[in-house]
Amino acid sequence: MTTEKLSGKRAIITGGSRGIGFSTAKALAAHGVNLLISGKNPESIAKAAKAVADEYRNITVMPFAADLSSKETPQAIIYEAVNKLGGIDFLINNAGISLSKPLENTEEDEWDAVMTVNAKAPYFLCKYALPHLRKSIHPVIIQIASVVAFKGYEHQSAYAASKHAILGFTKTLTKEVQNDGIRVYTISPGGVATDMATAIRPDLDTTDLIHPDEIAETLVYLLQQTGNAMIDNISLHRFTKPGWL
Ligand code: NAD
Repeated sequence: MTTEKLSGKRAIITGGSRGIGFSTAKALAAHGVNLLISGKNPESIAKAAKAVADEYRNITVMPFAADLSSKETPQAIIYEAVNKLGGIDFLINNAGISLSKPLENTEEDEWDAVMTVNAKAPYFLCKYALPHLRKSIHPVIIQIASVVAFKGYEHQSAYAASKHAILGFTKTLTKEVQNDGIRVYTISPGGVATDMATAIRPDLDTTDLIHPDEIAETLVYLLQQTGNAMIDNISLHRFTKPGWL
């Protein structure tokens, strides 16, 4: 199998301040990838970028604080990445929020928030990134969806709808950019030991869950692919205790 060296490439990772996004930032930095990592909280994203930059001094790590609920943010992230990194090779749509509520108790503004951050923002990040990705010799988009992009779990109707949405538009996007050589992947994890999982299921022992570094390793593997084999969707489930996500 042929693989691409990642050193010197330029990646955007949304939601890079913690959890899967932070693990991904560290994994890509270890491969010499220059990064723009975005997050909602300015202090958290600056701290995360500093931690990565302090460990990997041979790369650029740009923090970008912006709320993906805002209409202007996707375009602003792309503009910043192109200006600061000189272009974009990889777009990793990772940022997301969850909501654990019965459908009947879900308010309209909660539905809007989940759909905006998890589906609308990635959609427009893809849109604005495409002209820049077309200039890359190894352009890749990776969407972090979820097993709830395929399944339904009680109290996760809005979250599941948003993850079905990202999977849906990604299937179409994959076809639309195939002839441009842009690879588009979706990773659909089960429960990952992050703040999000703890917020939804505080009863779970996080040592039972997937470690965020395992998602990051999967992502690195996908980014390195250059052959003709197309991987449609990668789902990661817990090995030891099937049943929850
Ligand atoms: P997390 O809560 O640990 O981190 C979420 C990140 O998204 C943070 O960096 C946060 O700043 C950013 N973010 C949230 N809202 C934002 C907003 N409005 N504007 C800008 N940035 C915002 O979550 P995580 O578990 O690392 O999840 C990352 C992705 O993986 C999400 O898309 C999530 O849906 C998905 N996922 C998580 C799990 C899990 O069990 N943790 C399982 C499947 C899929």
